Amino acid sequence: MSTPPHSVSEFLRAYESGGPLRGFRCPRCRVVTATWGLACSRCGARPLEEATLSDRGRIVAGTIVVVASDEFVNDAPYAYVLVELDGGGRLSGWMPNVHTDEEIAPGTPVQFTPGYKPGVQFARIAPGSAEGTLR
Ligand SMILES: [Zn+2]
Repeated sequence: MSTPPHSVSEFLRAYESGGPLRGFRCPRCRVVTATWGLACSRCGARPLEEATLSDRGRIVAGTIVVVASDEFVNDAPYAYVLVELDGGGRLSGWMPNVHTDEEIAPGTPVQFTPGYKPGVQFARIAPGSAEGTLR
C-alpha cells in the first residue's frame, strides 16, 4: 500500500491558510488533479506525485447564490464557481459580491484569494491586467 505524500487535512488546510493550492500529478498519464487521492482517477496509476497548483484559472461554470447562510450573509449575492486552474486541476469555490451572470461568464480569469471563510475563495482578475490586479 502506498503512503500519501501529505495528509487530507494538510491538503484541505492549504485552501484557507494562504496556499499554495496542492494537488497531484499522475506519473503515467500526467493528468493533474485538485482532488486528494491515492490513485489516478483516469488510469489508476499510483502513487501520485504531489504537485503545486496554479493560483490562477478560468471559470468553467458558476451560479449566483442570493439567499445565504448566516456565515455568508454579508457576501451575498455570491457565486459558486467551478474553476479550471492554469496547468490543470479543477476546483469548486466561491466568489463574494457577484451580482450578474456576466461577472462569472465561462472563461473569466480568476485568482485564488485566501480568506478566513470556508471553501476556496476566488476573485476576478481585472481585464487587461498582466499583474492580476484584483477588484
Ligand atoms: Zn493517470
